[in-house]
Amino acid sequence: MANLTIRNLSKSYGAVRALDNVSLTVKEGKLAAVLGPSGSGKSTLVRAIAGFVRCDSGEILLDNRNITHEKPELRNTAMVFQNYALWPHMTIYQNIAYGLKLRKKSPEEIREKVQWALELVDLQGLEDRYPKQTSGGQQQRVALARALVVDPEILLLDEPLSNLDAKIRYRLRFEIKKLQKRLNITTIYITHDQEEALSIADQVILLNNGQIQQEDDPESIYSSPNNPFVAEFLGASNVITADILEDDQGLYVLLGGARLPVPRGKKPHDKVSIIMRADEVSQDREALGDSSFYTLKGRISEQMYLGAKRRYEVATGEGHTLLVDLEKRLPTDADIELYIHRDKLYIY
Ligand code: ADP
Repeated sequence: MANLTIRNLSKSYGAVRALDNVSLTVKEGKLAAVLGPSGSGKSTLVRAIAGFVRCDSGEILLDNRNITHEKPELRNTAMVFQNYALWPHMTIYQNIAYGLKLRKKSPEEIREKVQWALELVDLQGLEDRYPKQTSGGQQQRVALARALVVDPEILLLDEPLSNLDAKIRYRLRFEIKKLQKRLNITTIYITHDQEEALSIADQVILLNNGQIQQEDDPESIYSSPNNPFVAEFLGASNVITADILEDDQGLYVLLGGARLPVPRGKKPHDKVSIIMRADEVSQDREALGDSSFYTLKGRISEQMYLGAKRRYEVATGEGHTLLVDLEKRLPTDADIELYIHRDKLYIY
């Protein structure tokens, strides 16, 4: 168990900056989800920690130990790959025992440790089967057991659930989280699924083009995105580009007739991005209490039934379309007045 510190890590492949000056800390026993679109540098980051990728510059530390140039097998990290990478010619038992054999543990210790790992992931009784005689979910558990059996200081999981169907994925997500907490093991968990990241992580690291866009706890990164990329990636449904206007009171933008402030440094005729979630908007002004809010006006142009709620498209006088989720059933073409807390509408 260790604190992981990464300082100014960079790695290029030709002209591609796979990692661009990445710095972060993951505290002992915490689970950090590394989130980002395909090609954002997630795998490169985790492979660099494991020692499979040699970086151009920067440092990787486990507590105070600088492992930047250490061989992979000396780092005491363990990795679970997306495709599990189990050895097909070895039984489940042999797969799990392999790392211990490499470390020259005694037969007795190997037997004890493998038994411990099998119990940990609930696979007792399957030790004599070969990987192809087990389900995808079971193979995933074998991969996890094989990683944990060597008592790594850092557990690295590269999209560990992406090959499983939705139901098993959902269940295993919570099992991994429980196991990780029980063993108090510092963990890096790569995913491109924002819901998975938010539900499992103590800390979310969002990458794009090899750079960290935001690093925060799940609630903060979801509710206070640093920039439009973060907001959009974490599921904000409205990203509206609007022109900056000017009158004798200064600069402003208009949305649904509401006068919105303009971020510092902007000039007339510049554009701004206005970001809000479909479910942060309400028709119920009372519910917002004394807090300050914007009133947005428009007309319902389309609607879609989503079960517990409906999603409405609302056309504003300025020619924008807002997506709004409401429980109430309303007719298309109705005029509508909506309220949103000022802190829930981001302007960049
Ligand atoms: P992610 O895991 O987020 O999909 P990667 O870390 O795999 O992203 O890749 C980051 C960038 O580096 C991508 O543009 C990818 O094409 C490039 N890249 C990764 N590995 C290599 C490699 N071995 N050779 C050349 N380019 C690579």
